[in-house]
Amino acid sequence: MPETTGLDAETFDAFLNTLRRFVQERLVPAEERAFEEDFVPDDILQEMRDMGLFGLMVPAEYGGPGLSIDQYLEVILELAWAAPAFRSAMAISTGIISTALRLDATEEQKQEYFPKLLEGAIAAFCLTEPDSGSDSAAMKTRAVKDGDSYVLNGTKRYITNGPRAEFFIVLARTTAESLPSNRHVSAFLVPGDAPGLSRGKHDKKMGQKGAITGDIIFEDVRVPATALLGGVEGLGFKTAMKALDGGRLSVGATALGYSRRVLASALRYANERKAFGAPIANFQLVQAMLADSKIEIYAAECMLRDASSRAARGEPIVTEAACLKVFASEMATRVADRCVQIYGGAGYMAEYEAERFYRDTRVYRIYEGTTQILQVVIAKAMIKEYAASL
Ligand SMILES: Cc1cc2nc3c(=O)[nH]c(=O)nc-3n(C[C@H](O)[C@H](O)[C@H](O)COP(=O)(O)OP(=O)(O)OC[C@H]3O[C@@H](n4cnc5c(N)ncnc54)[C@H](O)[C@@H]3O)c2cc1C
Repeated sequence: MPETTGLDAETFDAFLNTLRRFVQERLVPAEERAFEEDFVPDDILQEMRDMGLFGLMVPAEYGGPGLSIDQYLEVILELAWAAPAFRSAMAISTGIISTALRLDATEEQKQEYFPKLLEGAIAAFCLTEPDSGSDSAAMKTRAVKDGDSYVLNGTKRYITNGPRAEFFIVLARTTAESLPSNRHVSAFLVPGDAPGLSRGKHDKKMGQKGAITGDIIFEDVRVPATALLGGVEGLGFKTAMKALDGGRLSVGATALGYSRRVLASALRYANERKAFGAPIANFQLVQAMLADSKIEIYAAECMLRDASSRAARGEPIVTEAACLKVFASEMATRVADRCVQIYGGAGYMAEYEAERFYRDTRVYRIYEGTTQILQVVIAKAMIKEYAASL
């Protein structure tokens, strides 16, 4: 994966310090509003735009800061301290969308879409459908060439930011029959106001209130042939998989960042709550839960550092990204489970944050490749490497 060089260390450190303050002083206090409205409030979104958060991965030659991948993951780690809604609003633009544009878009597409990201456009990535998720190449959405345009028909499901995205990258079949290497799949850049595009209702989810998902329905949506990402049919699946490798690093960093918040909450409660005349933090069985969480968080930190520096050096990271995503997401749910346990009865009550941590962390094991799909990815790479070594 070709990488950008990133900001110089001093500028980046100053940015991270500002971001850390923004997370503590603006995002954390805005969490309740985001949960009540089930939207990131407009004023907070505007502040995120003003900080340039949506354009972080726009390369310098297109006017962006062009963070390197390891710098970007540091940003995600900081942001993930706050409720997931905030990261979710911007991380599709900075993650999958920026990567797909950077790696595979035509020059005209870069000139058109990078400025939108720099202005803070919320974007969405449409791969999953009602009948295809893990088996995403089995998608039914069609894009049929008609003169100098394509006509899109189909439905995409659970699309993050779908209800408010300004533009979409949509994966669709350009041939009815499936082709080797999934070359029947192409990617299209589709504006949110394209005639024939409609949005389903805002999904009701288990957790992550304020992070929004919904169906996107395409009924004879006509886009110019220039909307075909990269200008070549059959590259869409490859683009999606490359972008998802970065996405998995980002979900790993998110799960890790949120786990730090969860553990801080558990540690505070354990010191404040008294039982049998002493803070429950004095009891060794409670200490074991705190220590196990710390151990796992440290392990995920080490994995993230290794995977992100490999990615920054341009090394292939399919296996490492999958390992990190599986470990950090599974770990986050264990840490959240222990947090509920440490809170005792209060942990089961919606009025305390432990309860939402438990619900919020669950999805990390599902999207951008379920744990099972990533186990298959890791094992296949191991078997291939073994065969090559014979
Ligand atoms: C909150 C949220 C946000 C999302 N945002 C987006 C988005 O922005 N864009 C987008 O395109 N999609 C999005 N998704 C969809 C998400 O990526 C899919 O839900 C996920 O890939 C799983 O697909 P599925 O739901 O169809 O499950 P299925 O593929 O039906 O899987 C069901 C179960 O079967 C297992 N399974 C399936 N195949 C295998 C196999 N070969 N081996 C072993 N086990 C297997 C899975 O691991 C899982 O446990 C989002 C989902 C959620 C919940």
